[in-house]
Amino acid sequence: MEKQRRNTKGKQLVMEVFQHEAGALCHADIVQRLAGKVDRVTVYRILQGFFDEGVVHKISAENGKTYYALCHDCSAGQHADNHAHFYCMGCKTVLCLEVTGQPPQLPQGYSAAEASWLISGYCPSCNAV
Ligand SMILES: [Zn+2]
Ligand SMILES: [Zn+2]
Ligand SMILES: [Zn+2]
Repeated sequence: MEKQRRNTKGKQLVMEVFQHEAGALCHADIVQRLAGKVDRVTVYRILQGFFDEGVVHKISAENGKTYYALCHDCSAGQHADNHAHFYCMGCKTVLCLEVTGQPPQLPQGYSAAEASWLISGYCPSCNAV
């Protein structure tokens, strides 16, 4: 019971971190923001749970890190995120791009399980330097 309550509290805290952030976050970012409140293993489990529930989606960035961002219209076990992502090579931040279009047509006989489009470059603040 006690453990269950702690878990719920942790989920709430992780959710708040996402809600206050414009871009996507990696595991380390979240751990850093919740230092002293939620430990890294719990953060990892919560992220995995959120992913399974269709709350967050994963983005694999060029730096080998996995980032997480809130989903809009996903349900448990079924992600429908078909937007592209932007990875800033300067400040290493990842942003969801709300540009949707028709996904590329696959040749006959192929079926898609996952799609991730990543555009790398520099964000406005890095461009300004
Ligand atoms: Zn999703
Ligand atoms: Zn940047
Ligand atoms: Zn996204």
